[in-house]
Amino acid sequence: MDWIDIQKDEAHVKREREKARVLRASHWWQQQISAGVCHYCKNKVGAENLTMDHVVPVARGGCSTKGNVVPACKTCNNKKTYHTPAEDILAQLESAEAGEENHEEEHPTDMERPILIIAEPHGFCSGVARAISIAEKTLAQHPGTTVYCLHEIVHNEHVVAHLETAGMRFVAQIDEIPPGAIALFSAHGVSPAIRAQARALNLTLIDATCPFVEKVHAEVRRFAKEDCFIVCIGHRDHQEVIGIAGEAPDQVHVVEKPEDVDALVVPDGTRVAVVSQTTLSTTHVEQVMKRLNSRFHTLQLPSKTDICYATRDRQQAVSTLAKNCQQVIVLGSANSSNSRRLVETAEAAGARATLVSTLEELRQLDTRNVPCIGITSGASTPESFMDAAVAYLRG
Ligand code: SF4
Repeated sequence: MDWIDIQKDEAHVKREREKARVLRASHWWQQQISAGVCHYCKNKVGAENLTMDHVVPVARGGCSTKGNVVPACKTCNNKKTYHTPAEDILAQLESAEAGEENHEEEHPTDMERPILIIAEPHGFCSGVARAISIAEKTLAQHPGTTVYCLHEIVHNEHVVAHLETAGMRFVAQIDEIPPGAIALFSAHGVSPAIRAQARALNLTLIDATCPFVEKVHAEVRRFAKEDCFIVCIGHRDHQEVIGIAGEAPDQVHVVEKPEDVDALVVPDGTRVAVVSQTTLSTTHVEQVMKRLNSRFHTLQLPSKTDICYATRDRQQAVSTLAKNCQQVIVLGSANSSNSRRLVETAEAAGARATLVSTLEELRQLDTRNVPCIGITSGASTPESFMDAAVAYLRG
């Protein structure tokens, strides 16, 4: 199986962006619900008089749905007949429950087969698709030449294996790259010290750092110029955080959890600024921020949270998914931060969640007697892995 088809994945990213737009629209609709406004006639009838054609932001099977919540007044609702995948899912769940109560039902095979719900959005984000596309183009432009990449281009073993087969060599340290070679920086970014080393080695550099990561680097540079004490919320061993902290090593202090905030020693009169890793759980960042706000009353914050759109939207979708399923499967590699956060988010929403990185692991997963399985994938997981996993689960 070819694990990467970049054109297919780029098309997937385009579709995901459209779905993200629809999701944002869905939030707007939720505001309309609170305001009690009918989506169709625009009359303000009060929230209690609205009915909702409610589609959870997920798709079922191969049929993609728009994750809309459409509030309608009773008059408008009566004029329209809705048949949504979400209603379908609920009907099937009820039917499955009825089947559990009466084992003599007529369609035992259908009853035994779990409902499979695919989270939308899932899979490649724009930053990952961009990095892989840059890597593939670089390889194509330099046939027969070894192209080096400092660290995994993205945290996914299938992607790395695919590029290795195509001739890319991944290294953990910059001094493993021979002087004058062609080298890529991964989507996670690097510190200025690494850039200086690369220049000293006279490397031909191609930078695949995600623009959302680059934005955090720029924030750190700005806060550093303003002599701030910079708190970076993130995992200190993650390449992205190492690169961000390297922008101002004497001023950046990494905190991983709320308790770490208590240990910070800030010189009197110094302003405290906060940035964060892009792929953290929104809930986790909120908890750390709460502790920071209670300790420091004049925090300097970036204009928006540093958690990127891809991380936020995937977490929101898996949270909704987990409320509708008993088991959630997250396709992604063990070192993928955003995939691991999806597992935590699904668990926090009440489902059993498992991170699966290969088809072999999926085959070993016990999904018997689970009425409804949800599946999603991290931002660095190729769509072809999702296709293969769905094909396997459908039997
Ligand atoms: Fe960029 Fe976010 Fe994707 Fe990471 S998860 S590559 S920060 S868009």
